[in-house]
Amino acid sequence: MIPFVDLQAQYEAIGEQTRQAIDRVLNRAWYILGEELDAFESEFAAFLETDHCVGVGSGTDAIHLALRALGVGEGAEVITAANTCVPTVAGIASTGARPRLVDIDPDTFTLDPDALAEAITEDTKAIVPVHLYGHPCDMDPILEVARNHGLKVVEDCAQAHGATYKGKRCGTFGEAAAFSFYPSKNLGAYGDGGAVVTADEEVAATLKKLRNYGEEQRYTHTLGGFNSRLDEIQAAVLRAKLPHLGEWTNSRRHLASLYTEALLDSSVEPPEEAPWAEHCYHIFAIRSANRNQLAGHLRTQDVGYQIHYPIPIHLQPAYLGLGYAPGTFPHAEKACAEVLSLPIYPELPDESIGQIAKVIAALPA
Ligand SMILES: *Cc1c(COP(=O)(O)O)cnc(C)c1O
Repeated sequence: MIPFVDLQAQYEAIGEQTRQAIDRVLNRAWYILGEELDAFESEFAAFLETDHCVGVGSGTDAIHLALRALGVGEGAEVITAANTCVPTVAGIASTGARPRLVDIDPDTFTLDPDALAEAITEDTKAIVPVHLYGHPCDMDPILEVARNHGLKVVEDCAQAHGATYKGKRCGTFGEAAAFSFYPSKNLGAYGDGGAVVTADEEVAATLKKLRNYGEEQRYTHTLGGFNSRLDEIQAAVLRAKLPHLGEWTNSRRHLASLYTEALLDSSVEPPEEAPWAEHCYHIFAIRSANRNQLAGHLRTQDVGYQIHYPIPIHLQPAYLGLGYAPGTFPHAEKACAEVLSLPIYPELPDESIGQIAKVIAALPA
């Protein structure tokens, strides 16, 4: 049995450090907005080489609050990719803005900059490029479109901790970027968590109010706000894990290169890495023309897998109201029909890759 992901293996490797971190919080008995969060925010901003980090309750909240801090709300349109994870669109919709979807570049599974330019209307206020699976979007043409039309850019970095575009970390390109620390993300807490990073001091200050009921100073509230804070226990766990993120990313990249070689003559297509990209392989999504048969075969052979994602946003029951018919985004729809995610996590032994490739090669025709 090869599991899709094994969080227990990571806990065995760093359990002592995370238990000490949690104990620190328990002994201090200060649980919300305290010194662990302050320290994590500085450390994560330093890791990304940006100025400000504001810890919030989840990645979805990070998208919602980042857009709100940039003035996006009712009446606005926000553009994102049709193949993203649902929370991207849930975060956009929470601002009151209308999500507008665009198709993807089939080679990178990320937002197609040409389709983006065509989707802009006079109501468009922001773009949320999604570095899906951990492969960076082609940011230069996206930023150019944004500049030409005066649009804000909020990167969805929920799958892109440590990925780089032309040598610079994802999360440092737009006005702000949203991270998720959901337990299975490349940097995961032991519960829900998220953060917004930004180089803009004013945006960071607004976010600190928005996450804490709009409070400016104790009992004086200058904004309508929310309750969305990264708590002290999660911040302490993330501080224990952050120093390992570089080595974990290297392991994922090593495993991806083994996969690519092992799948060279197979019936499936491993993901590509664009020349300007350093993929962090949150997900290793292959394409297969007979994906559903492959899935059934992996199940009988005890190889874990997942599908990210089987239904594009515009065909989800909750978003049919956006009014997009099937066939509107052919590349995104084809990807949803063909992709399958194979196990990839830092503790996965090298030998597993060969075993998985053998199982795939044995798929009955
Ligand atoms: C996980 C994820 C999110 C949401 O993160 P949560 O912390 O679960 O709210 C948003 N966008 C993408 C692409 C994700 O993978």
